[in-house]
Amino acid sequence: MAKIIVIGANHAGTACINTICDNYKEHEVVVYDRNSDISFLACGMALWIGQQISKPDGLFYASKESLEAKGAKIHMEAEINDIDFDKKIVRGQFKDGSKIEDTYDKLILATGSTPIEIPVPGRDLENVQYVKLFQNAKDVVEKLKKPEIKKIAVLGGGYIGVELAEAFQLLGREVVLIDMLDTILGTHFDKDFNMRMQNLMASNGVKMAMGEKVQEYIGKDGKVAAVKTDKGTHEVDMIISCVGFRPNSLLGKDKLETFKNGAYIVNKKQETSIKDVYAIGDCATVYDNSIDDVNYIALASNALRSGIVAAHNVSGKEIESVGVQGSSGIMIYDLRMVATGLTVEKAKGYGIETEVASFKDVQKPAFMENVENGEVEIKIVYRKDNRQIVGCQMLSEYDMSGAIHMFSLAIYKKLTVDELALLDLFFMPHFNQPYNYITMAGLNAIK
Ligand SMILES: Cc1cc2nc3c(=O)[nH]c(=O)nc-3n(C[C@H](O)[C@H](O)[C@H](O)COP(=O)(O)OP(=O)(O)OC[C@H]3O[C@@H](n4cnc5c(N)ncnc54)[C@H](O)[C@@H]3O)c2cc1C
Repeated sequence: MAKIIVIGANHAGTACINTICDNYKEHEVVVYDRNSDISFLACGMALWIGQQISKPDGLFYASKESLEAKGAKIHMEAEINDIDFDKKIVRGQFKDGSKIEDTYDKLILATGSTPIEIPVPGRDLENVQYVKLFQNAKDVVEKLKKPEIKKIAVLGGGYIGVELAEAFQLLGREVVLIDMLDTILGTHFDKDFNMRMQNLMASNGVKMAMGEKVQEYIGKDGKVAAVKTDKGTHEVDMIISCVGFRPNSLLGKDKLETFKNGAYIVNKKQETSIKDVYAIGDCATVYDNSIDDVNYIALASNALRSGIVAAHNVSGKEIESVGVQGSSGIMIYDLRMVATGLTVEKAKGYGIETEVASFKDVQKPAFMENVENGEVEIKIVYRKDNRQIVGCQMLSEYDMSGAIHMFSLAIYKKLTVDELALLDLFFMPHFNQPYNYITMAGLNAIK
């Protein structure tokens, strides 16, 4: 029997605690989390804020009680602020000020990530909001009830910023989306895809302030009144800052090996550079199969899998992560975009020369009557040297998202675009076409 301490009980921590408790009941699991709730699905934040779901209750899937029923000892509002890795002791304090000191045989760091603040004057003004925790979402929902919150600036054109900008616009607020890059969603899609969503947002009334660098938040009577950028000033009543997240690795940054952004470097068993210490979720690196190297990709999907891998290894069953491809998706005003692996631009940044195989067609044969039959665009990115697929982007108003999983697997298994062209994809009119857009894109690549 081992005593396992888990610091952090959100998505990575919860997956890990569940897996240990479900499979290895002989171990003692003790958990510390500084927050008051467990497992808030931040992915539902924009839906709740935008009133597309009526209440947040369904955005939690675990609790102190549900984890304790499985045998774990859960301490909430319990912040760990020091670890003695030599003596295997954690120290901290509860919200009421009482001290924590506990020993472990094995330690799991699941301390996640924290929002990046743009270091500009005015950061402390009222109505400058960050979005990460349930409490943050609650604040925004409450503030939106005030009639004076009419104009909102969303900073950062990543997934979260784009979703929130849409939510505020649907609520009838005047919205400006500001990013210093030329287009939104640059991490996941190439410009041709990004512009489709960007234009759609603009046509729905979201002001797209791309290529603008934030310089200052200007206040009036202690509240934010404007955002000043290098290109102009936007009058606003609230700022939502979502320009990214950094790994929360304060506890081990001086002792454990870290990545360039500070994340704990882990191997495929989630082990850090110190024996018996594991790191999972947003505070740790991942193995990225699209570049065949260690990388940082903060997603709940990665967090869950890393928690499961660590749980087995810490409990004595050796398993290895299969790495990730950074698969993701977004839907705004009925436009769905999904992606996995590298874009052409991103590949260029890694010094990988690529080519592209694209195709556009409706999902089902044209003879099908009275059925939903959306047009789908696909863009497959493959290496010029060995023709291995390293990325894929798809776009449609039709739900084609299932296909991107195949491309995730293709990247992991190092499939070539030539193999893809001849891959056995079934045909049946209710579902697709014999010369479907995946086969056609592949065939285009081997012309
Ligand atoms: C608005 C939003 C939308 C998102 N949408 C998606 C999506 O659609 N799909 C997707 O895959 N991902 C999405 N993500 C990302 C996803 O939420 C994160 O990848 C995920 O939360 C990571 O889980 P984690 O457990 O590693 O870390 P976190 O969620 O950051 O949790 C870390 C936990 O550690 C605790 N902790 C930290 N330090 C200490 C300490 N010193 N002592 C005690 N406890 C501590 C914290 O209280 C927290 O509970 C979204 C994120 C946001 C903010």
